[in-house]
Amino acid sequence: MAMYGRYHGRSNEELVQHLKRSRVIKSDRVFEAMNSVDRGKYTQPSHAYIDAPQGIGYGVTISAPHMHAYALELLEEKLHNGARALDVGSGSGYLTACMAIMLGTHGLAVGIDHIPELRTMAEENIRHDHPELLRNGRVELVVGDGRLGYPDRAPYNAIHVGAAAKELPQALIDQLAPGGRLVLPMGAENSDQTLVQIDKTMDGKIKQRPLIGVMFVPLTDRERQYRRS
Ligand code: SAH
Repeated sequence: MAMYGRYHGRSNEELVQHLKRSRVIKSDRVFEAMNSVDRGKYTQPSHAYIDAPQGIGYGVTISAPHMHAYALELLEEKLHNGARALDVGSGSGYLTACMAIMLGTHGLAVGIDHIPELRTMAEENIRHDHPELLRNGRVELVVGDGRLGYPDRAPYNAIHVGAAAKELPQALIDQLAPGGRLVLPMGAENSDQTLVQIDKTMDGKIKQRPLIGVMFVPLTDRERQYRRS
């Protein structure tokens, strides 16, 4: 599986086909969601269909397509029609939109980012790609410290964190619904990070499982991030 290859497609369709052929995308639902959300509306179109992260300003990147696909596959069964998801560090808004598509017309995907300008950018991106998600309240974008989650809409069936945490944010575990799943990268900046899956059983027990080595920007303080950019 060419996970870290620099595949360069000419269109969103080609990129998503590539992810399916290389078996990063396994399910039809993830395939359909990634087909319908055009990555070219969330980052510079000239680089959008390369399987690599891209800078989006403020010292951060939109994650590589194979990472988005991998995360959506891990959360696939939790992103069912009518469920709720939280996307911490929503950045470009790309993954929040994919989640919202999978959650269907009765679901809700909340994206939270601590940079107000990125929140605005995500809203504009989604408006150009899938305006109905905003119009029908299927996506909500908020500004705040994602380490605290977003209790107003909790509990969530699925939580994704798009930035590496040094410590496990307890608030996110608290805001998981019974049967819910949290996927987050853990580790310090520029050092070994591990993508971790945390499940809350129906009777409230927590099960933690390390998955793969990854590299994400840090889940950090706003001021610290402004200094990086
Ligand atoms: N899923 C996004 C990832 C963007 S990079 C995408 O693919 O576009 C990580 C994001 O986390 C950045 O947008 C950054 O601003 C945000 N972030 C970092 N620390 C945060 C914090 N404490 N609270 C909320 N957002 C944070």
